[in-house]
Amino acid sequence: MNRQLIQKAAEDILRSKKTIAFTGAGISVESGIPDFRSAEGLWQKYDPEEYAHIHAFYSDPDKVWLMLKDMFTLVMTAKPNPAHIGLAELEQMGLLSTVITQNVDGLHQAAGSKNVIEFHGSHRTLSCLKCSTTLDGASLKIEDLPARCPRCSSLLKPDVVFFGEPIPPKAQTYSFRESKSCGTVLVIGTSAVVYPAASIPIMAKEEGATIIEINMEPTPLTGQISDYLITGSAGKIIPAIVEEVRRQR
Ligand code: NAD
Ligand code: ZN
Repeated sequence: MNRQLIQKAAEDILRSKKTIAFTGAGISVESGIPDFRSAEGLWQKYDPEEYAHIHAFYSDPDKVWLMLKDMFTLVMTAKPNPAHIGLAELEQMGLLSTVITQNVDGLHQAAGSKNVIEFHGSHRTLSCLKCSTTLDGASLKIEDLPARCPRCSSLLKPDVVFFGEPIPPKAQTYSFRESKSCGTVLVIGTSAVVYPAASIPIMAKEEGATIIEINMEPTPLTGQISDYLITGSAGKIIPAIVEEVRRQR
């Protein structure tokens, strides 16, 4: 771990008028939920292009529900890791305004973060495609899936944004406002290739914010949009930054 960059990140957070975090699947890998790009796991079995498109859901819901059931099990049993907890601590200390996440696993909230924007929705609730009744996933057993609406018996869909679906308008408006008004962005565990989500750090940069990337490897943002990349696992780097912030404060 690069100590100098950890110190620099702590300084940037302490100096910033407002800091936000923008997170992706990589922050939940250490909680046991595979990202899209890992060599192992869910997405080797299910090609996201094939399964995560809204047309796939409408044309063959039973097939897509095979993938959704596996994801549901992972999401409902996963626990937050030190990276999620570190971000919740920063918020508690008054040093992190908002977490904008592309993840659908609810682990930021489980770690104690209060101000979380779920840019791509949540896998923890399901809605009826016909009458919009919403159900808490915790009330369902894996054997019940794919479940039907208790009111009208139509098929339920997890409240996640599939490829080809619009971003929930409130989440988009609020995220863009946050990104344009912050001084520092922590971009954590995202390959930054899914749009419009990936425009969040770009818009912040255009307004003069400092962009700190935390990732196992470079991304299209690295060297272009990011001021610096701290290479390594989020579960190690975020707690180290929090510790350094406490030391410098
Ligand atoms: P991605 O899979 O495209 O990229 C993950 C990134 O995280 C990669 O750049 C990888 O190098 C990095 N990474 C992996 N392990 C890491 C670790 N321990 N610490 C730090 N970085 C690590 O994910 P994405 O950019 O979020 O885009 C995929 C889309 O898939 C998202 O829109 C999201 O909605 C969805 N998704 C969500 C979950 C979840 O909710 N946990 C899981 C898989 C996919
Ligand atoms: Zn219904």
